This record gives sequence, structure tokens and C-alpha cells, in this order.
Amino acid sequence: MNTLRIQTRDGRRTDISADTLATLTATLRGRLLTEDAPGYDAARRIWNGMIDRKPALIARCLGASDVVAAVNFAREHELLFSIRGAGHNIAGTAVADGGLMIDLIEMQGIRVDPEARRVWVQPGTTWADVDRETQLHGLVVPGGIVSTTGVSGFTLGGGFGWLTRKWGYTVDLLRSVELVTPDGQFLNVTAESHPDLFWALCGGGGNFGVVTGYEFDAKPLGPTVMAGIVFYSFERAVDLLRHFREITGNAPNELACLFAVRTAPAAPFIPEEQHGKLIVGIAMNYAGPLDDAMRYVDQIRNFDAEPIVDLIRPQQFMEHQKFLDAGQPYGRNYYWKSDFFDRIDDELIDVAVDHWAQITSPLSSSLIMHLGGAGQARPLDSTAVGFRNTEFVFNMQSAWDGDAGSEEHIGWARAMFDAVHPYSGGSSYINFQTEDEGDERVRQSYPAEIYERLVEVKDRYDPTNMFCFNKNIQPSAAVLRRQRADTSPVSD
Ligand SMILES: Cc1cc2nc3c(=O)[nH]c(=O)nc-3n(C[C@H](O)[C@H](O)[C@H](O)COP(=O)(O)OP(=O)(O)OC[C@H]3O[C@@H](n4cnc5c(N)ncnc54)[C@H](O)[C@@H]3O)c2cc1C
Repeated sequence: MNTLRIQTRDGRRTDISADTLATLTATLRGRLLTEDAPGYDAARRIWNGMIDRKPALIARCLGASDVVAAVNFAREHELLFSIRGAGHNIAGTAVADGGLMIDLIEMQGIRVDPEARRVWVQPGTTWADVDRETQLHGLVVPGGIVSTTGVSGFTLGGGFGWLTRKWGYTVDLLRSVELVTPDGQFLNVTAESHPDLFWALCGGGGNFGVVTGYEFDAKPLGPTVMAGIVFYSFERAVDLLRHFREITGNAPNELACLFAVRTAPAAPFIPEEQHGKLIVGIAMNYAGPLDDAMRYVDQIRNFDAEPIVDLIRPQQFMEHQKFLDAGQPYGRNYYWKSDFFDRIDDELIDVAVDHWAQITSPLSSSLIMHLGGAGQARPLDSTAVGFRNTEFVFNMQSAWDGDAGSEEHIGWARAMFDAVHPYSGGSSYINFQTEDEGDERVRQSYPAEIYERLVEVKDRYDPTNMFCFNKNIQPSAAVLRRQRADTSPVSD
């Protein structure tokens, strides 16, 4: 191995000698990949194909001791580094150009204690992996709506999905976190042992250290649930969104509904005349007895139009968790905008339908998910989840293959966001923010008092902002100034 030129946090480049790299290689149980190593190119790729960055070094960690070594190495050499859980993120903060990637994808252990209803999860896993192990025991940890999404970054942002209304945000079920801190210590963090740090890890993102393990409470579910989607012609979009508003206005916590817009794929279960046309649908999951669910299925079906296809039925929860996966495959180009709404006014409906009609790519989609329920049951400041009190999350998701049309597709999502944003109740979700949404949007993701407390925790655990390649909580300016003064040369 030759000397390696690598990016530092302050924008310089530093040379790491072959001997130093050899020492790190020998320290790690996992592999250390440079650009010329077999497997490097696959390792640097993540879910969003738009993110085409080349780290100088990838440390494929296999356990907490590898992570300690990687964090210490990054600190000692002042390196720019990124953390990758499952790499399933729109902004692509898992990969920093020219820096070090602390890659956790090979840490995929999961252990379930069915008696205690506890689940231990390593950070390279996806929700499909966790569902597989928990559903074996009729249990579930509430995850997201696409099963290939990583547990790690998801949980650190707060996390929501089909079961949020029933059991709260994913962090509401988090019981402990194994963390490697910026100074290379290994901590078992709980609400009792480190109240502020645990609080900050429940919604504050990857700002406070590298998580090497999560411990969750699990809940009983299924394995069969009443779930699925019913699609109608886009011509009925306004009425169907009003219908969705009515259903969600009276929904019990067991019922989670999602409004979906997409282009009908050429799938055998969709009539041929609809292929390639825009369709709208209501998807649902009922987290309770199948018999009770029928009442709400009937409500959803009680719409004065012939459905294009009705896929609501009793099915395995794991199957339902995967039904949106095919629309979000690995490696495609994606650009998203996302916003939160307290209610769905008629005006918002008109604006939304108008912009959906202008969708530029047949691979793009949009969704409005009903949140609330048990997610709102806890006090707003009980965790660092800044959007706890919201009712609806609204995503505008551009997707396309190849380079052609990128500007047009990105432009559609941006224009739609600009049009609906005036109706937003405020707040934002760090896990849905794109690459170009910076510090201001991160700040808007939290009420002022939550953001200030996050900064206090950052000041305490990462005052130099070593963990900066993320949706960043910056340490307070005063702390940064003091650091600079301490390190600047004394002039006489
Ligand atoms: C198709 C799709 C569907 C989604 N659906 C949902 C949904 O239903 N609900 C929802 O809440 N979110 C959803 N998300 C958003 C999801 O929560 C984020 O993309 C999340 O970052 C995914 O986690 P990851 O580990 O795969 O990400 P990564 O790209 O691996 O990580 C993203 C960032 O998280 C931080 N991070 C990750 N792991 C660690 C760690 N171990 N220690 C410290 N920091 C870490 C780092 O800053 C990292 O750069 C979805 C995303 C996609 C792409």
C-alpha cells in the first residue's frame, strides 16, 4: 500500500503513510478498503444512485472494537469521515468524497428474547432483517414502510411507519444504545445512565458517536394482519384525498393509512389499459384483530368509484412491509422533498393534485402518511423527535434511471414542495432531507427548546464537531471559538 491522501475535516488533505495504514489494517478485524481494493466500488455505493462519491478509505467494521479503532484513527488524523448503517438514505451522508467511511454494513447480528420481548440489533441491518427474526416469535419492532430501509440511521432520526399510531415512534421503543463516543470510549447508554445523551440519540441523528447496537422493546403482532392498498384512477384524486382525510379524521390508533400517487406499472394485477397512467390509492395496515379491521376496510372501500385494483386482504405482516419495496430499488436516482401537515385543507388538496398531474418521471411517486395516534401521546420533549405533534407527512419523490432529465425531475419535486409548503404546519424530518438541505433545514426540524438541548449535548460529547458529515447539530459558537483560541499559535 502506498501513502494515502485523505480529506481532513477543515478541508485540507493529509498524507497517511503506508506503515500507518498497515497498523490500522492489522488492528481491524474487518477489511480496510482503498480505491484499488477488490470490492471497493460495491462498498462505496449506496441506495441513492445520485450519490457517486469516492471515499479514500473504507473501514468495514465487524464489531465495536473495530469502530473504536476507526473513530480513534479519524480523530488522531483529523479526518473527514462518514458513518454508513445500511446506506439507505436520500442525502447520502453515508459517503464522504475523499474521506474515511466507517462502514457498519457487515454488522448484521440480531437477537430476540421472546420472553422479555426485547430485541438487540446491530447497525448494518434492515427492517426486513429485523421483521424476519421478530415475526418468528409473533413480535415486531415498529419500523418503516419500505423493508430495505436501514434500522440504524432510521432509529437515530426518530423513525415511523405502519405501527407508529399504535405504539409510537421507533425511538419510543428504544431501551439502550451501545455507543462509541468521539473520544473513542464505549458506552452503554440508557435513559438512566446518560439521560441527556440517550435523549439526544432518540431523534438527533448521527451527531454524538457511532452506535454499534440498539436494544428495543418488541410488541406482539400478526403474523397475519389486515393490510394492502386499493387503487383508483387519477381522475378521482381530489375526491379520494378528501375520503382519506375523512377516514384519518376518525381512525383508531390501530389503523394506519397512507395516500399514494404513482404511475401504474405494467403488472399482471393491473388492467392493461391503466398501464403507464397515473393512479391514486389508499394503503392501510390494521394493528389489531382481523375481525375488527373489516369495519375500517369497509370505510376505505366505501368510495363511489370502481377500483382499478383492490389488494387489501389478510396477509403476513412481513409481506405487507415489502409491498412498496419494488418502487424504490437500490441504485436508481432519487431526489425527494418532504413536509409535515397538521391537516389537509381543500386548498392543499387542489394544489397537490395539480402538481401530481405534472409528474415528470413514470418512476416518481408521492405519499401522504397519517401519523399522530400513540406517536403524539408522549410529551413533545420526551425525546429529540421534533415533529411528534404532527398529523401527516407528505413526500414528493422523484426517481429516474440514467442521467437524462435529472433537472426536470428534481425541478418537479422542488416546485411541488414550494407549492404545498405554505400549508405546512412547520418542522421537517432529518431522515427525509436531501443533500442540498443544509443546517437551516436541520434547525427547522426541531422546536427551539429541543434544538438548544441538542446543542448542549453536542457541546458536551462532540464539542469540536468531529461528527459533522451528517444532518448536523453544530456545537455552540462559543464552544467552537474557545476551541480555536486554545489551538491557535500564541503570538508575541
Ligand atoms: C426508500 C426509503 C423509505 C424510507 N421509509 C421511511 C419510513 O417509513 N419511516 C422513516 O422514519 N424513515 C424512512 N426512510 C428514511 C430513513 O429513516 C433514512 O434514510 C435512514 O437514514 C436510513 O438508515 P440507514 O442506516 O439505512 O442510513 P445510512 O445512509 O446508513 O445512514 C444515514 C446517516 O445516519 C447516521 N447513522 C447511521 N448509522 C449510524 C450509526 N450506527 N451511528 C451513528 N450515526 C449513524 C449517519 O449520519 C449516516 O450518514 C426511508 C428511506 C428510504 C430511502
